[in-house]
Amino acid sequence: MRVSREFTFSGAHRLPEYRGKCERLHGHTWRLRVTVRAPVQPHGIAFDFAELDRVVGERVLSALDHSDLNALMPDPSAERIAQWVWRALAGLPLEEVRVWESERCFVAYRGEGDDA
Ligand SMILES: [Zn+2]
Repeated sequence: MRVSREFTFSGAHRLPEYRGKCERLHGHTWRLRVTVRAPVQPHGIAFDFAELDRVVGERVLSALDHSDLNALMPDPSAERIAQWVWRALAGLPLEEVRVWESERCFVAYRGEGDDA
């Protein structure tokens, strides 16, 4: 069973190597979806939503929310943020991390190599 929870966080970034609007410092309200995969237990739950909330809050949102993302990772695009979140959540049975930069633009990462 795939179990997902969505979050939002505010974060500033700039992409120095990019030519376009994201070259200059600005902020987004990022949307994040973390999906884990686990078997349904006899009590009917595969992965506790509350546990997902707690772990993502402690390991991800506490660092990223209202932050300067460039201070945390190089070239903090949606792609790089998804990879950062994946690494921050090591140990969970992760299936996919999605990061939305805007309502209709998002990336999906499933732990491929850093260049995938
Ligand atoms: Zn941007």
